[in-house]
Amino acid sequence: MSDDEDTAASYNNTQRAFLQALLTRQTITFEEAKPLLATILTANDPNRPTLEGDVTQEDFENYIHTINDTISPFDYEIRSSLDQVTRERIYALVNTTSDALTQMATVHTPDEIAFVKRVIDAMFDTNNTQRAEVFAVRSMDAVKLSKVPNSERRDSGQTQGRTQGEGAVASLTMSQAEEVLSSMVEEGWFDLSQKGYYSLTERSLMELRNWLLDMYNEDAEDAEDDEEPHLRIKMCAACRQIVTKGQRCPNLPCNVRLHEQCVNNMFRAQGGQRQCRECKTEWTEAPPVGEKAARNTGGRRPNDRRSTTNGTHDESDAGAGADD
Ligand SMILES: [Zn+2]
Ligand SMILES: [Zn+2]
Repeated sequence: MSDDEDTAASYNNTQRAFLQALLTRQTITFEEAKPLLATILTANDPNRPTLEGDVTQEDFENYIHTINDTISPFDYEIRSSLDQVTRERIYALVNTTSDALTQMATVHTPDEIAFVKRVIDAMFDTNNTQRAEVFAVRSMDAVKLSKVPNSERRDSGQTQGRTQGEGAVASLTMSQAEEVLSSMVEEGWFDLSQKGYYSLTERSLMELRNWLLDMYNEDAEDAEDDEEPHLRIKMCAACRQIVTKGQRCPNLPCNVRLHEQCVNNMFRAQGGQRQCRECKTEWTEAPPVGEKAARNTGGRRPNDRRSTTNGTHDESDAGAGADD
């Protein structure tokens, strides 16, 4: 970057080193940044060593601020959000003009991106129903999505989508799919849980926020009459961030969601009343949002229709990865 202008006067080698570190690790918390900044500052001025304990939250935020001033003309920005589980603030470098899928396209083929899209659909659509809001997909189900579903293979009789023209995508092999999934984890887009579920990372949620809302909450605008719009993605009633891990109102049709750690904040704000803000249902044994919601349904996956449909498919099943 050419940053020799006056406007970037305070941007120096220490900020550059910090930005480079952020590039390699994708996200950083203040606690993680402390030793890093101490090392960078000490290297910059060895005669005045900086200790980890010397780095304050304010120093850190000043760094972020200066870097943001410098990188914003290049359509990048360091954004922060709270981790949905730990509530620790995490910082990530995001591209402000293109969504994550566009960025992935620089290192992945269109067929790979289409596969990633099918996996995200499984998280936010197939495995996100009123009965169970899982927002995650079991690794074995994700691999099955390597095949392009029949509904997207419009021109029947041709298996190689490539020559069919616009929008046509080809299936991946299972091992190609596995490779793409592990690179999604490596690149910081997907988390793989101990129980073997893929979900979007906090960084993905930060970068993909608008795209996800456009993609999965569009019905809200199209909803007719006084029909309650089906919002697949819901915001925390306390902190207003997307909830893919947390709790839901025990009254299932109600749209109120809370992060685990936001629950008490909410009730404190309500003067200690442990009830839903909207429908006033008592907030006890609130069902989970996240992969726990899949395990809560007695081991039966929300998208496991094969056990009941005996191999018959309808078109709406095609995106579920249940077709073979
Ligand atoms: Zn929250
Ligand atoms: Zn409610």
